[in-house]
Amino acid sequence: MARGFRAAGHEIVASAEGADLAVVNTCAVTADAAADSRQMIRHLARAGVPQIVPTGCWTTLQMKEAASLPNVLHAVSNQEKENLVAQFNSEFRILNSEFDLEPLSRQPLPGLHRRTRAFIKVQDGCDNACTFCITTVARGESRSRPLEDVIRDIQFALAGGTKEIMLTGVHLGSWGQEWGRHLRELVAAILRETNAPRLRLSSLEPWDLDADFFQLWENPRLMPHLHLPLQSGSESTLRRMARKTTPASFRELVAAARTVIPSVAITTDVIAGFPGETETEFTETLDFVREMDFAGGHVFTYSPRPGTGAAKMKGQTRPEVRKKRNAILREAFEESSKAYRQKFVGRRMAVLWESVTELDEWGWQMEGWTENYLRVSAAASSPRWNEVDEVELTDASGDILRGVIRDSG
Ligand code: SF4
Repeated sequence: MARGFRAAGHEIVASAEGADLAVVNTCAVTADAAADSRQMIRHLARAGVPQIVPTGCWTTLQMKEAASLPNVLHAVSNQEKENLVAQFNSEFRILNSEFDLEPLSRQPLPGLHRRTRAFIKVQDGCDNACTFCITTVARGESRSRPLEDVIRDIQFALAGGTKEIMLTGVHLGSWGQEWGRHLRELVAAILRETNAPRLRLSSLEPWDLDADFFQLWENPRLMPHLHLPLQSGSESTLRRMARKTTPASFRELVAAARTVIPSVAITTDVIAGFPGETETEFTETLDFVREMDFAGGHVFTYSPRPGTGAAKMKGQTRPEVRKKRNAILREAFEESSKAYRQKFVGRRMAVLWESVTELDEWGWQMEGWTENYLRVSAAASSPRWNEVDEVELTDASGDILRGVIRDSG
């Protein structure tokens, strides 16, 4: 959208002061995310932005409420989002001409940290119906972006100096299904047709993958990190969630991934306090999380989203029970991620530096990520933002691994 507005001659500014128009991409994944979205719109109105255009999932689900918030010009649903910029710029037709977008896409957006990683959306929507998920209602059915468009976006990002590409989608693993194709074709094509030095995949639903998929990691440019949402380690809870997986098949998939990609980091998402979750079911989840030795995980406290199957289920867990279970699961993830980090102390790993801070006479403090998504910090005599260095990892006592740069560039 920013690129489109720029192409039509507008300037993107870093703060609300002086902005003539603000577009707010709202979220509805949890009750907190929806509240944050509303708060952002009110905040922009108070800061003096005269025209606000909310879009995204919360707006799509609550069009009337979004339109009634202060200074809202027009609420735009997800279905109309693609045309949002065109709708506000009659001169936007310029985009269909020979206009050269490439230099515009290279310019960083003001007010944002400069990114070393480009997020390339390859798919939207979802055809599943997990009972806790509002996404299917808000985003509609699954649709994939053509391979050529994805490759073109990646080439843009690489031309701008991006070192790492992350493929994203609401249900990434379903890419290409409407054409009888599989995500593995897209990944293989990107590795073949671009020179992206690092390629990452965002969240992948376990049922979309098989052992063959992991053969792609023979190419070292595909980063060894898999985020596989589990949501529950209890078979009966998974059934109520309408997830197409079981603890047994999840276990099998993780074992297959670890066989082919020995250093792989496997992370996950779990929901605490799903409706009807008994003490036994919760313990099954806790035991499963411990057994899987995850490199990390997010625990979401269940919040009923109006319009979903789970919100109507009997036996909603009490908020204090959800909170308590969340804390216990978090602790389990902290333990397993610490153990995972510890395994790499003493090893040398390639780190892409994402942030640099000047340390007076001491030089520069750098922070970045290893290929298997471990956060690392190290000191350097000159700033090495967006560079990859070989780092010897020396200390895993905190949340971030510490290391010493052994080989630059
Ligand atoms: S697969 Fe993911 S996006 Fe689709 S319904 Fe389930 S949780 Fe939602």
